Amino acid sequence: MEDRLSKSFARTVTNSSLANRLMSLLEQLRPASPHHFQALTYHRVLDGDAFAAQMAFLVDHYRVIGMDTLLAATEGRHSLPPHALLITFDDAYQDFAEVAWPILQWHGLPVTLFVPSGFAQEKAPAFWWDVVEHAFLHTERLEPLETSAGRLSLESEAQRRQALRRVKRYLWSVPPARAPHEARRLTADLSVAPPESRALGWGELRRLAAEGVTIGAHTRNHPNLARLNREAAREEIAGSWHDLCTHMGSVAPVFAYPGGHYRHETVELVAEAGFKLAFTTQRGANDIREKQSYLELRRINVSAQATVPELRMRLLQAAPLFNRFHGSLKGG
Ligand SMILES: [Zn+2]
Repeated sequence: MEDRLSKSFARTVTNSSLANRLMSLLEQLRPASPHHFQALTYHRVLDGDAFAAQMAFLVDHYRVIGMDTLLAATEGRHSLPPHALLITFDDAYQDFAEVAWPILQWHGLPVTLFVPSGFAQEKAPAFWWDVVEHAFLHTERLEPLETSAGRLSLESEAQRRQALRRVKRYLWSVPPARAPHEARRLTADLSVAPPESRALGWGELRRLAAEGVTIGAHTRNHPNLARLNREAAREEIAGSWHDLCTHMGSVAPVFAYPGGHYRHETVELVAEAGFKLAFTTQRGANDIREKQSYLELRRINVSAQATVPELRMRLLQAAPLFNRFHGSLKGG
């Protein structure tokens, strides 16, 4: 909801020169801190032009750092440049290689790709949320459907989109092994053939790594880690690193929580597996002096289709300046 509001607000201000001047002013007021960094999270890249415009903006206004620079800074080997920004992609979709990476390469921007290792093998199924989306967007069924997520109206496009959101929310909450099965059953109920996987395979991932992409772990099967028992969660976390090392050679000791879901125990398992940094979906900036935050780093989710004013606003909302403000609101 908050996202949708800020999106529509950003659209409104796109043509407002006053709002643009205000954002420029706030950008100039950002403290040039050697301790802070922000991190962006992308997933799919369907529109190369919008993404290229975003990257051109970042080149001029931020110092995009690679994971190696961040790791060195957290180990105290050097400080960060002012306005340091890390670019990350989750889930390793094919459009990362086809659309995003050529644009990043053209600008010389480093990037980290978080790979759910179970989907990199041949004949892997599509992600369950893509299966569900495909089913709702392609079904010709108009009659309501009874599902475990409740009764879903399908008559209008708006109702189908609402049903999609409801089912996705529901499937994140069920025991993780059930989500792919329920998604498949839904495609059958909606008389739609399941889509093919759009995840990158090991060969493509090795090529990207050789070209300079940092590869990080994102579990094996992309489950909601907060819903798994300790042993299953350990298998997903340590197992994904093992898979990456087996297929890629060495990879960076960095991890991203699928869907941003985790609990206290999950953080212990991530530490136990040997990861040095782990990323959540919690919005905000990071302070590398706060060592206790290294396995719960904040990121800013942004659509690759977003306009430059939308991107600027999301970065400003989660700027170090406002972190301090939130801190003081909470009484420190
Ligand atoms: Zn993910």
